[in-house]
Amino acid sequence: MAPWRLRADLHTHTSYSDGLDTPAVLVAKAAQQGLHCIAVTDHDILTALPEAYEAGADCGVEIIAGVELTVQYGAYDDIHVLGYGFDPAALPLQTRLAAVQEHRVQRGIEMLARINTLLQQEGKAPLDTQRVLDSARGALTRPHLAKALIARGYAPTTQQAFDHFLIPCNVPKAALSPEEAFTLVGQAGGVCVLAHPGTLSTDPETMHPFVATFKAMGLIGLEVYHHRHYPDAIALFQDCATRYDLVATGGSDYHGRPEGAVLGQIAPGYAIPESVLPDLQRAQAKGR
Ligand SMILES: [Zn+2]
Ligand SMILES: [Zn+2]
Repeated sequence: MAPWRLRADLHTHTSYSDGLDTPAVLVAKAAQQGLHCIAVTDHDILTALPEAYEAGADCGVEIIAGVELTVQYGAYDDIHVLGYGFDPAALPLQTRLAAVQEHRVQRGIEMLARINTLLQQEGKAPLDTQRVLDSARGALTRPHLAKALIARGYAPTTQQAFDHFLIPCNVPKAALSPEEAFTLVGQAGGVCVLAHPGTLSTDPETMHPFVATFKAMGLIGLEVYHHRHYPDAIALFQDCATRYDLVATGGSDYHGRPEGAVLGQIAPGYAIPESVLPDLQRAQAKGR
């Protein structure tokens, strides 16, 4: 067996995005699980990293600077790209992520305004703007709005809230292009890996050209080992990684939810392979 010190989890979230644990709690749990290293990869935000570094120094867990960027390409508007090993203080990356956060906040406010206009057109009382804004911890998202509509009795289910209000009142997300994401992370000294590619498609005829295109744009790896990949998806992306000379990484995508992924594992009892950290480090060294 490989030494315990290679045990790593390259995909985790904190309460600064949609995870439940603070960075300190996340890192303490990683230490309890016997993990040597974790990458903290919140969605489009780097705020957890200083606290994670501090907790990592206390607990003896190495922290890799990470981020999970939302990227738009063609018909895919919710591609997730993991950035690793960059300088979190790099100004262009920080500035662009601040703009993404600002758009996310404005998007929720704009959707709420559109919903209220629709409600008024239907002769119904509008939602209480302040109360709905208070219900969201950070940016107001569509699930928050669905909940508010259900609570007021305007929709019996989340699906109907989407069909009747959220889809007609949608404001598009402003995501990065893949080239922009790869450039921002690359200029900050880091590398990019496609997160859980199986959530895009598990059809080889779709994914081979997709992966080849992203590789040509600067992608260095695929998150092959992930709890949403069944063995056939793992085999497909292992094959893609070999064919396109990409590193095979893995992470739990831990969010701190009791029913969700377990730190350090991709399925109950299945640890993330110990090759992922040294392979990522080699690929990053080669890329520089
Ligand atoms: Zn993701
Ligand atoms: Zn994630």
